[in-house]
Amino acid sequence: MSISEPPLMLTVSGARGIVGVTMTPAVAAAYAGAFGEFLTESTQQGRPLVCVGRDSRPSGRELAEAAIAGLASSGCDVIDLGIVATPTVGVVIGSRSAAGGMVVTASHNPIEWNGLKCLNAAGVAPPPEYVEKIIERFEAMSLGAIPDSPDEVKRESSATEMHVDRVLAALDTEPIRAARFKVVLDSVSGAGCEGGRLLLQRLGCDVVHMNGEPTGIFPHAPEPLEENLRDLATRTASEHAACGFAQDPDADRLAIIDETGRYIGEEYTLVLAARALLRRKGSGVLAANLSTSRMIDDLAAVHPGSRVLRTAVGEANVANAMKQSGAIIGGEGNGGVIFPPPHGVCWVRDSLSAMALVLDLLATEKRPLSELVDEMPRYAMVKCKFDLADFASASGAADADIAASIERVKRTFADERIDTSDGVRIDFADGWVHLRSSNTEPIVRIIAEAKTEQRANELVEQTRSAARVL
Ligand code: MG
Repeated sequence: MSISEPPLMLTVSGARGIVGVTMTPAVAAAYAGAFGEFLTESTQQGRPLVCVGRDSRPSGRELAEAAIAGLASSGCDVIDLGIVATPTVGVVIGSRSAAGGMVVTASHNPIEWNGLKCLNAAGVAPPPEYVEKIIERFEAMSLGAIPDSPDEVKRESSATEMHVDRVLAALDTEPIRAARFKVVLDSVSGAGCEGGRLLLQRLGCDVVHMNGEPTGIFPHAPEPLEENLRDLATRTASEHAACGFAQDPDADRLAIIDETGRYIGEEYTLVLAARALLRRKGSGVLAANLSTSRMIDDLAAVHPGSRVLRTAVGEANVANAMKQSGAIIGGEGNGGVIFPPPHGVCWVRDSLSAMALVLDLLATEKRPLSELVDEMPRYAMVKCKFDLADFASASGAADADIAASIERVKRTFADERIDTSDGVRIDFADGWVHLRSSNTEPIVRIIAEAKTEQRANELVEQTRSAARVL
C-alpha cells in the first residue's frame, strides 16, 4: 500500500477501503468471519442465519462471495440476496427472523471504494461496544486464504419485491394511485434501481427512470447533492413531472427535486415524509439527530401532542432512540428516513419509504411540491469541518482536546439551552450550533442553522473561537 492510500477504515458504520488495495476478498472474508463468530457466540443459536446483500459496484460480487465464505466458515447459515438496497436487507432480516445481516457497500463513496456493513437481528447497526468487539476479532485474525465457499448457499430472489410490498402495505396508497403522478427517478445505476422503479410503477406513477440499470458504473458523483443532480433537475422540469427523486448507490438516502427543477435539499426529505405521516396520524414522536434541521421542530409545533426526540449522530443511535420512544418516524438531515415497524417498513434508512411518503403528501395536499416547500420556515445551514489536530492544546491526546473544547463552548454559552449527548449543541432563540468529532474521520464538525446565512456563519465563528480552534 502506498503511503498516500487511505487505510482500511474500521468504524461503527462498518469497514471501508479502496478495492484491491485495502478492501480485498481476504479482508471481506476475515471481517465477515469475525462478525459470524460474534453472532454464533452472542446468539447461542446453532447456526445463526445471516442475510447478505450488496450494492451494484462491480467489485461487489467477489467481495460478497468472500464474505459469505467467511460467515459460513464461522458457523453461520447464509441467505444470498444478491444486489439489493441496504434497507431491503433490513426488511428480509425481519421477515426471516435472521440473526443479522451484512451489506457489501460503500454507500455514497466513489466507485474505487467498497465496504462491509453489519446489521443485527433488529436490522440496525450493532451498538458501538459490539462493533468494537468485532473489530478486535478482525484485527487479531491473519489475512490468509479465503475459506472454501459453502456447498450450498440459499438464494432469495424476491427480496426487493418483499420490500416494495412492505412499503405498499404500510400506507393507504389509493390517493397516490389516483393522482397518476409523473416522476423522474435517478437511481445512479445503484442498488435501488429495481426497487425504486417497481415501487413507483405499483403506485401508478408514470416513471422516467434515469440511470436505472444496476451496473455499478456511476454516471455522476454518487452522493445525492445538488451539484451531482443537475441532469435530474433539468429532466424533472422538462418532463413536467410532479417531482424528481435521487437515490444514493445503496438506496438508503433520498434527495428531492421539485416540479420546477429546483433541488430542494436533503434536509427536506425527512420533514416532508414526517409531514405526510402526521397528516394521517395527527401526532406522534419524531426522531432526528442533533445535526438535523429545526424544520422538524416547527412541524411538531403545529401538530399538538407531537414532540421531537434528538439523538446522537449515527443511524443506530436514531433507530435505538426510536425504539425506546415509540417514534412514528425518524432520520437524518442527509435524506435518510427511517419508517419503522410495526406500522412502517424497517429500522434502516429507506429511500423507498421516503418516496412513498412524499408522494402521499403531494396526493393528499393536492398542491405542487414547490408550494409545500415554500410555505415551510426557511433556514440557512452552514457546515464546517476542521482537522482534529487543529484543536490543539498544550498537552494531551486529541480526545482530551475535544473534551476541553466542549467545556469551553459550554462555559461560553452557559445561559443557553445545551445538549451534550454528542459533542455539544447549543440552542438559541434564532438558531442552533452543534460541535462534534466525527465517528468516521479525524475531523471535528461544526454545523449551525439560523434564519440567515450571516447569522449561521456568526454562530460557527463564535463556537470556533469559544473552542479555540487554531
Ligand atoms: Mg447510503
